[in-house]
Amino acid sequence: MHGKRALVNTLSPGDSVLMVETGHFASLWRAMALKLGLEPEFLSLAGTDADTGLPNAWRHGVSADLVEERLRKDTAHRIQAVCVVHNETSTGVTSDIAAVRRAIDAARHPALLIVDTISGLASADYRHDEWGVDVTVSGSQKGLMLPPGISFNALSPKALARSEQAKLPRAYWGWEEIVEMSATGYWPYTPNTNLLYGLSEALDMILDQGLSRIFARHKRWSLGVRAAVRAWGLPVQCADGALHSPVLTGVITPIGVDADALRKLIHARFDLSLGTGLGKVRGRMFRIGHLGDCNDLTLLATLAGVEMGLKLAGVPIAGSGVAEAMSYFAQEAAS
Ligand SMILES: *Cc1c(COP(=O)(O)O)cnc(C)c1O
Repeated sequence: MHGKRALVNTLSPGDSVLMVETGHFASLWRAMALKLGLEPEFLSLAGTDADTGLPNAWRHGVSADLVEERLRKDTAHRIQAVCVVHNETSTGVTSDIAAVRRAIDAARHPALLIVDTISGLASADYRHDEWGVDVTVSGSQKGLMLPPGISFNALSPKALARSEQAKLPRAYWGWEEIVEMSATGYWPYTPNTNLLYGLSEALDMILDQGLSRIFARHKRWSLGVRAAVRAWGLPVQCADGALHSPVLTGVITPIGVDADALRKLIHARFDLSLGTGLGKVRGRMFRIGHLGDCNDLTLLATLAGVEMGLKLAGVPIAGSGVAEAMSYFAQEAAS
């Protein structure tokens, strides 16, 4: 639902939008754009990774060069918006949003920049104003540690101005009534009061810890998990060293090992629920989340469950990931 509000407020039926295939959530957003009567164009890295058989597009972030090249060709400025996912939860790869902004500016293109940071907000560094984003889309159910049920849009003045001309039907999703009523502290409909109480508590916790410490903590967890995956000798899905998600790690299973059968075994034996491979990578990878309210020991327990599961499933591993993560966490003090 979160991505919908951004699209219906800024676009009109038949508008071209440039979206970038970074994984399942980008693909779902594109499917939603199609359903809304937009004309999404899906930019995608070509090819398949020879070692793992996975599509390259699902192991890398948004290529700002490809975006710039495409926008430069759009001399008539038909493309109305560039839509990208900041933290692709299906792959564990982030994208350099500031670089996408620079690409749009370098092409001197007026398209809006719309970004999904549903799973990035409050866990990975993100700067709506500084990075020149027009609409940021987020939700309550990931780094804000709440149940699903609230979605957020942050708007630039340009996005607000564009919304006055946009013609897609909005009904409940319209910004105008919300912006108008929020000036007096109200919401145009019955608000999700119970979640707003939760949000207030979550924000107190977050501000109490401080965003920079929270970002550092997630990054450190991602480094610890990566040390474990490396020790097992399995490939991490993110193939770009600078773009590893601090929020989750995608682990690719060897060709011939069904990642979902492994997940099922681990769930049955150890009551540990791992994220499934979604869309094009179903059965080829699983996801370890290190998001929000967790700690070194819960993460080590997760890694232990995975390591035992790999052994039970007869998947050859090079060494102990748990031991490696323990030494990493013992050295690196939590900030
Ligand atoms: C969880 C998630 C979504 C889906 O949110 P909905 O509440 O189902 O709309 C979209 N994008 C990303 C990156 C996500 O992590």
